[in-house]
Amino acid sequence: MARLTDPITILKGVGPSRAKQFAQLNIYTLGDLICHFPRGYEDRTRLVTIGDLQVDVPACFRAVVMNTPRTHHIRKGLDLTRVQVADHTGRLNLTFFNQKFATDQLQYGAEYIFYGTLTGDYAGYGMTSPVFERPDAPAVLTRRILPKYPLTAGLSNAVLLRTLRQALAICDPPAEIIPEAVRRQYGILPAERAYQAIHEPASMQEAELAKRRLVFEEFFVFSAGLALLRSAREEKRISPYEHTDLTRFYGALPFRLTGAQSRAIAEICEDVASGKPMNRLVQGDVGSGKTMVAAAAAFLAAENHRQAALMAPTEILAEQHYRSLSNLFAPLGVRVALLTGSMREKEKRQTRELISQGMVDLVVGTHALLTDTTVFSDLGMVIADEQHRFGVAQRSALSAKGCDPHVLVMSATPIPRTLALIMYGDLDVSILDELPPGRQKVDTFLVGESYRARINAFIRKQVNEGHQCFVVCPAVEENEELSLRSAEVWAQTLGQSVFPDLRVMLLHGQMKGSEKDEIMGAFAAGQGDILVATTVIEVGVDVPNATLMVIEDADRFGLSQLHQLRGRVGRGSAKSYCILTTRNANPDTVARLKALCKTNDGFRIAEEDLRLRGPGDFFGSRQSGLPAFRVADLSCDLQTLKDAQAASAQWIDTFGTSDTPEAIALRQRITQLFQRSEGTIN
Ligand code: ADP
Ligand code: MG
Repeated sequence: MARLTDPITILKGVGPSRAKQFAQLNIYTLGDLICHFPRGYEDRTRLVTIGDLQVDVPACFRAVVMNTPRTHHIRKGLDLTRVQVADHTGRLNLTFFNQKFATDQLQYGAEYIFYGTLTGDYAGYGMTSPVFERPDAPAVLTRRILPKYPLTAGLSNAVLLRTLRQALAICDPPAEIIPEAVRRQYGILPAERAYQAIHEPASMQEAELAKRRLVFEEFFVFSAGLALLRSAREEKRISPYEHTDLTRFYGALPFRLTGAQSRAIAEICEDVASGKPMNRLVQGDVGSGKTMVAAAAAFLAAENHRQAALMAPTEILAEQHYRSLSNLFAPLGVRVALLTGSMREKEKRQTRELISQGMVDLVVGTHALLTDTTVFSDLGMVIADEQHRFGVAQRSALSAKGCDPHVLVMSATPIPRTLALIMYGDLDVSILDELPPGRQKVDTFLVGESYRARINAFIRKQVNEGHQCFVVCPAVEENEELSLRSAEVWAQTLGQSVFPDLRVMLLHGQMKGSEKDEIMGAFAAGQGDILVATTVIEVGVDVPNATLMVIEDADRFGLSQLHQLRGRVGRGSAKSYCILTTRNANPDTVARLKALCKTNDGFRIAEEDLRLRGPGDFFGSRQSGLPAFRVADLSCDLQTLKDAQAASAQWIDTFGTSDTPEAIALRQRITQLFQRSEGTIN
């Protein structure tokens, strides 16, 4: 017997070049192969006589070859083979294109099973390129339900199927992880049967059942993992923060907190005083003032002589937090330091030195914070901003640097409840559902190319009034294939031809961190009129004087992302605008973008986005920190998700510690899942 971890090269017919093709599909081991699930099935079980074949309805039939196949060379690259077959009910002419090699195997007088679709009309019936095999050969292409796999260049469905069959024959599928009682309660197939049936179902019903089992399994592993994390946390005891008086902090604020901010901060105070590690998510629309909530948490840590770390997803954002928080905290005696990947080595070393000696109370930084060389003297509070880019694994990596520190994560992407269940199942949630007073709705318009002159005039008007504009493009460089507007070229066009008298700046993600910071800093300081950028400005950047956001080829972005981008304006007192341009007239696209013009409610936009695009695209690729579900589809498998969650909650006490084979296998799978999700986060 082979093992799931054995490389696929132990299989017959899988040499180095095949292995390379499989690698394109992320298949390296027998386990990967067995977990490469079909995206659908073709039901080829119906066997009829030639007389019963119906036009346009694919079916199998058994027939004898009535002549030797004849191949005609029609022109370069086009060979045509004809052959006649018959059964007791009639005859049928078959035509094949460029399949001389295959049709040479059809022997005059021999019997085959064919699968194909009858075509024709009163002038005569026929069939083009049916597949066939001998009746005594194993049913591979006919008389069965044929799974259809995700493929890659050079790797056909037939090859995949053949290889998979070999793997299933010599290797046990992944071990059972769902206790029998749960399987019985929810009508779930056993693992062994499900893994077999998903690839070789005896009926379409069985395929359905197998899929349901695998979806359940994925959700079960994930929610069991979150449940374990949660219960482990709840059992932990740490010394509670004694000082939770925030009067000094409130006194230093330049404004009064909103009701929602105060509520969230009160919840945090309760958490840190409880003697258990906090694990809280603060969710609030762009501009709802999450930074102040984070500041309050950092202040609490400092008051209790613990260090706090604030992680931002980009250097620009880290810089900005650093600036505003050092200003806020200077009079309060809270020492703030910045640590980002692009700082000079010497600077980094010095900062790390201060951190490890406990001379810094709050460290603001990017992922560099996560690297091994940063040692905290007493890390008691970990804060992650724009949380959806940090998955469970990264959260726990940073937590591991402290002694069970409190964890606060902040997300500006309003997340539909269903997704929140998955992503934040291990967190308590505070919601900032109130914007600071005086905020205005950003007026949003959707326009086509014919409005170009008017857009330009509007940009000029804003600048003449002393304001600044963002112009966001979907690509960095000119991209012929998609012909998207590129930031580089567009910045040049605007700067040289359209607005030669204005100060046009360029910002994109391929620039070095320090360069980005410099440009963003200069723009925020009013040294530019127009900033042409890619979505690097999506997250958090604050330029209150910017009143206009133009988004080119807006159809290329998700609604939630557009909403985030739009949140970059309307942060000051002046009326602000967002113009979405599109060259795409598809009615669905237009309807989608119009939805954004109608509402400013991030939660409603998120629900709409999820409905329209599905969760895979919801956060943009690779950014979600969501585990990659192989079979499950969050937009349609909700009931199964709920079942799996209920089951894992009910069984937590058993599988957490038990020695049954299922419990052991489940704990292994959980570990693997959380390790893997680390790799999918940028
Ligand atoms: P978020 O991170 O939630 O998008 P920020 O924390 O960046 O929002 O806050 C957006 C802006 O609102 C900042 O300029 C901040 O100083 C300001 N702000 C935050 N809270 C308040 C408040 N209670 N009253 C007035 N302005 C506030
Ligand atoms: Mg923010």
